[in-house]
Amino acid sequence: MAKIYLNGEFVPEEEAKISVFDHGLLYGDGVFEGIRAYDGYVFKLDDHVDRLYRSARAINLEIPFEAGDMKDKILESLRENGFGEAYIRPIITRGKGSLGIDTDSCSDPTVIIISKEWESLYGTELYEEGLKMLTTTFRNQPKEGLPPTVKHMNYLTNVLALMQAKTWGADEALMLDTQGNVSEGSADNIFVYRKGAVYTPPVINNLPGITRGVVLELLEEMGYEVKEEDLGLAEVFTADEVFLSGTAAEVAPVAEIDGRKIGDGEPGELALQVKEKFGKITGTEETGTRIYQST
Ligand SMILES: *Cc1c(COP(=O)(O)O)cnc(C)c1O
Repeated sequence: MAKIYLNGEFVPEEEAKISVFDHGLLYGDGVFEGIRAYDGYVFKLDDHVDRLYRSARAINLEIPFEAGDMKDKILESLRENGFGEAYIRPIITRGKGSLGIDTDSCSDPTVIIISKEWESLYGTELYEEGLKMLTTTFRNQPKEGLPPTVKHMNYLTNVLALMQAKTWGADEALMLDTQGNVSEGSADNIFVYRKGAVYTPPVINNLPGITRGVVLELLEEMGYEVKEEDLGLAEVFTADEVFLSGTAAEVAPVAEIDGRKIGDGEPGELALQVKEKFGKITGTEETGTRIYQST
């Protein structure tokens, strides 16, 4: 039974409870992160914590301590549980308040850090066969509303998108924005490889993934031309390869979209190369923060 960090204390999972008046529950008023630890190192901890604080600022939510303390608490939560290979979920909500939406009734944000021993998101066969995606009718939030660039707790669009994809036998949803441009998966960024160049939508209609950033760096190191441009569905259907990136999924090749084969309908060569390179840089001093002191 894992110990959960809750408002300054580590408590056993079954005792980690918050108020039914928490505005995170009542209104999805909060922000979160999804982080992974590999082989005793937290991958890109600084980037994740930085994004968490920026997300909080975007919704005008003040986290009651500094980013450095957040990093310490994350590392502590892993030590507390003895984890070296884990998924970490910090959550900051507006906190307990009245039933109205007014944030004035919320005085203390709720701070939660869940860490869980790592279990894979998609089965290994999905990486061998490639994912099947379905273009969902749920469009990603337009930037005129709740910014799709903020990792906030209003996740219902993504939940319904994935549910729809799975209802129709797919593994993941492909979300478009309200203009019909390709946006992202339900919790992953998308890459399209066509005619020797790699494309990914600019981060304005999607979430600026940390994994996306790492994949961009890897592709550049590999000598690929990478273009951050708007893409339509036609560009995706006629791609040589499509792959997804995300903390949980890492790098996942896509074999099929809307029942149509992408390339030859097998995981692409480039996706597999990037996936392999990604695997080599996780769990290292260069990209990670050590959880335990060296022995
Ligand atoms: C978190 C998230 C991603 C992926 O970001 P990573 O930092 O790579 O995990 C992509 N899209 C959405 C909607 C997300 O919430």
